Amino acid sequence: MGGKLVFGVAVGVAVAACAVAAVVVGRRVERRSKWKRVLRILEELEAACDTPVKRLRQVVDAMAVEMHAGLASEVIQVYHVYAAVWGHFRCSYWVVLLFCSFSLFRSEKGTFYALDLGGTNFRVLRVHLGGQRSLSLKHDVEMQPIPQNLMTGTREDLFDFIASSLKEFVEKANDPDQLAARRRELGFTFSFPVKQTSASSGALIKWTKGFSIEDMIGRDAAESLQQAIDRIGLDMRVSVLINDTVGTLAVGHYQDPDTVAAVIIGTGTNACYLERTDAIIKCQGIFTTFGRMAINMEWGNFWSSHLPRTTYDVDLDADSPNPNEQGFEKMISDMYLGDIVRRVILKISQESDVFGPASTLLSMPFKLRTPLMAAMHEDSSPELTEVARILEDILEITDIPLKVQKLVVKICDIVTRRAARLAAAGIVGILKKIGRDGTSGIAGGRSRTNIKLKRTVVAIEGGLYTSYTMFREYLHEALVEILGEEIALHVILKPTEDGSGIGAALLAASYSSYDTVSVDNSL
Ligand code: ADP
Ligand code: MG
Repeated sequence: MGGKLVFGVAVGVAVAACAVAAVVVGRRVERRSKWKRVLRILEELEAACDTPVKRLRQVVDAMAVEMHAGLASEVIQVYHVYAAVWGHFRCSYWVVLLFCSFSLFRSEKGTFYALDLGGTNFRVLRVHLGGQRSLSLKHDVEMQPIPQNLMTGTREDLFDFIASSLKEFVEKANDPDQLAARRRELGFTFSFPVKQTSASSGALIKWTKGFSIEDMIGRDAAESLQQAIDRIGLDMRVSVLINDTVGTLAVGHYQDPDTVAAVIIGTGTNACYLERTDAIIKCQGIFTTFGRMAINMEWGNFWSSHLPRTTYDVDLDADSPNPNEQGFEKMISDMYLGDIVRRVILKISQESDVFGPASTLLSMPFKLRTPLMAAMHEDSSPELTEVARILEDILEITDIPLKVQKLVVKICDIVTRRAARLAAAGIVGILKKIGRDGTSGIAGGRSRTNIKLKRTVVAIEGGLYTSYTMFREYLHEALVEILGEEIALHVILKPTEDGSGIGAALLAASYSSYDTVSVDNSL
């Protein structure tokens, strides 16, 4: 009897132990299969974002071909403003091409002002010109973030805010301009697609970068600013309306005549380059007095089937206020990179429990901003403390193991690497179009000819490029990969500080209604 009981208990214990072991093993198997699923999502992301040099070259070619197509398309208007020439035309994706000649920088003296309305920040600048072309332009600048509510409010609210910041800036400082009694000249950098109608006027075509102020569409940006300036009683004249690429190219070219293009990689992305006037097919015979013209490409709207698109990009685009637009920008720029990463983390959290209980914050669009994503990507601490802190503070994801934190870093890396490499391909696309990529241009294919390599400078601006080291490094690496080391040696990416705003002041000086001294015809 006693033996039977002992036997029975032993069997019971063994069965229970087996059951526990089965549960433990089962859970382990389940965990492993969930982890496998997570890894599969990561692998799929990596494959979909892959940018081997072959693909990048296809993007380069597509960009150069589109640029050619743009130059052949219909010219809508040509403007003669002072001695410079402006005009624009429409093509498949370049919304507006704007010409301005930098050949007319005059030896203007005095103090000129600029307003730079980017996507995130707003800058007010004062630039002092001493009458001689100078490599270092003296300037004062004040920067502040654009209040979120003004991005989607009314036209008047936005411009009243800008005008009052300008007034404060002007009144606070001791204006060293001896000619201060005269009406001040203001250059306005307004970095949204505009239908330019003269050097100092242009109507907004559409908002980008998260702005949405309905009553502004079709309205003149410079006029809206001028009205707000008048309302506030400031004696200033908006004498030039440009976007950030044109301003950056103006400063770049002013300081280094080998500058052939300007690229913005900030909240949004865009580029501008100098084109031979005789290459602008529809303009032949019109611009004969100018060697080259600056063309605003609006490349944020570039699209090609060669761009590596993921389901996350498709969803981001569909949820955006401007679906099917700004496709290149949505893969590259600061406004979107953090959100792509958030979408991948969300997908993983829906398919597994590696991020713990569902976080509602993770479902909120744009909750993870790119600078924080960059901070996670660049976290070099062994315990990834910054990753843990940001996940907890921003997304309320807590207590996740190190291997899951590493997964987050890897997602950031994949998304940023693709963005940077595509931006590099865009830059080489421009170089190819203007014959500075070491090949014999579009028709010549890839063969290196005996083309003499010229020093080629691309001015570059924007917080994503200047503040995100890994992004910058990936971009440079891809540039060398695409061009080859020998050619890449001749291509210099030159960051300009506040170039987009300083360029507006410089062009305001050049378009000044006051006396002019001389003409520099270096182009
Ligand atoms: P914009 O002129 O479009 O307002 P800026 O050139 O002023 O842009 O740069 C601001 C942008 O740079 C913002 O979108 C900001 O999030 C981004 N930024 C700033 N620092 C970093 C960083 N460390 N990593 C990534 N992006 C950054
Ligand atoms: Mg800017």
